[in-house]
Amino acid sequence: MEKITSFTIDHIKLRPGLYVSRKDRVGAETVTTFDLRLTNPNEEPVMNTAEVHTIEHLGATYLRNEPQWKDRVLYFGPMGCRTGFYLLLAGDYESKEIVPLVLDCFRFIRDYRGQVPGACAKDCGNYLDMNLPMANYWGGRYAELLEQIDETRLVYPE
Ligand SMILES: [Zn+2]
Repeated sequence: MEKITSFTIDHIKLRPGLYVSRKDRVGAETVTTFDLRLTNPNEEPVMNTAEVHTIEHLGATYLRNEPQWKDRVLYFGPMGCRTGFYLLLAGDYESKEIVPLVLDCFRFIRDYRGQVPGACAKDCGNYLDMNLPMANYWGGRYAELLEQIDETRLVYPE
């Protein structure tokens, strides 16, 4: 089988950032897949599953309620390697265009307190696997990066 595009990114050069992973045509529409890379691949610890899961619940809740963007949000979820998340938006976008959206989303994750949305047996397949304090930590760390992001963290390294 052919090596898929996301495995051709040089993960040794890759740093935390906000990247366009791919663009797909679906009928007349373009779908942009963003790589929200929170940790430095193979250089520092990955996120644990509990905080990844919490970020997924909080991020999906935020993005699907955001008035300007909610109708364009197709998917938000974790990478299996636990170094980041994928966000799929309907439309043809560059990563700098969605910095404000993703920044607001991760500030929401940083500042969230209380019951995690959807964290109950009826709504989720593994609702006890949550770590809100660590989700708050990663929310803060990624928001800090986005607050002063430049081209080197918006376009994949060559
Ligand atoms: Zn869940």
